[in-house]
Amino acid sequence: MSRAELRIRVSSLENNIKSLYRFSQKPIIAVLKANAYGVGALQVALLMDKLEEISALAVACVEEGIDLRKVGVKKKILVLGGVLKGEEKAFVEYNLTPVVSHKEHLKALAGLNIPIQIKYDTGMGRLGFLEEVIKDNRVEGILSHLSSPLDEEYSKLQIERFVKILNHYRGLKYVHMESSAGVVYRIPFTTHIRVGLALYGEKPMPNYPVSITPALELRAKILSVKTLPTGFSVSYSRTYITEKPTRVGVVAFGYADGLMKSLSNKAYLFYKGKPVKIIGNITMDMTMVDLTNTDAQVGDWIEIVGQNQSFTDLAKLAGTIPYELMTNLSSRIRRVVL
Ligand SMILES: *Cc1c(COP(=O)(O)O)cnc(C)c1O
Repeated sequence: MSRAELRIRVSSLENNIKSLYRFSQKPIIAVLKANAYGVGALQVALLMDKLEEISALAVACVEEGIDLRKVGVKKKILVLGGVLKGEEKAFVEYNLTPVVSHKEHLKALAGLNIPIQIKYDTGMGRLGFLEEVIKDNRVEGILSHLSSPLDEEYSKLQIERFVKILNHYRGLKYVHMESSAGVVYRIPFTTHIRVGLALYGEKPMPNYPVSITPALELRAKILSVKTLPTGFSVSYSRTYITEKPTRVGVVAFGYADGLMKSLSNKAYLFYKGKPVKIIGNITMDMTMVDLTNTDAQVGDWIEIVGQNQSFTDLAKLAGTIPYELMTNLSSRIRRVVL
């Protein structure tokens, strides 16, 4: 019944997880922040909760952690964004593990007997202690984050700084630093990898050495098909004028669904594997495509992302990154688990 669907292929997701595990030889902390990158945290979390390669899930804030517990997630849940005063009780009540990156977070946790992990800023310039060793018997792990995993020299500097910090600790159960792109460094002293994007088969770099395949397909239905005569303008502000009689399809997917307006007159969608160009400005709920030379009919599906085009491809055209495109996917897109 839905007009737009994000289809999540479980078998591909599982294969990607197995590949990441095989490549790194380390259990995975699956990063499911921001509604699992827009894919649907509840759907994805329940799948992940059953897989033995996944040892924990990670979210950005305490609210996201609570939501996962409420749907029945049993595995460990790390809250990457720290603890602010007033939140500490929820960590206990919902069995969430705080990632502490500031003295104030430690103050908020005073007197609470729960495991904690400590974040180090080895060069990200965001959250984390610089080199201060936290002497607290609740510490079960330490982590850091690469700012530019495609930059080998800088990443190696970050890795060196991290191992120096690690040398001050004993008996940690969790030491992690590698994100999707970071797994290429196969850091010898980490115990886990901490990945998000690659789970879905989006490659963080062109020659990604881990064999992953697209696990997501985004599609929407055609609401109207009609032939417009030569010289007819399409959509707001008349940025496209037909040069010949043109079969124009209206797709039930607009910028409010996550298809950036900057892709107007630029990107292609796909009809039965065949590219169809976006013409005219993308509007809030609808996008026009040139269906000339296709037999597309009202009610047929148009593929936005899938076998022919990844979120990474589309993001590049829009001058952004797949993370932004994915996290902008609207709640009115139906999430379908296959
Ligand atoms: C988002 C995030 C990740 C996951 O990054 P990917 O590139 O999606 O694998 C890992 N660690 C931290 C701290 C993050 O914020």
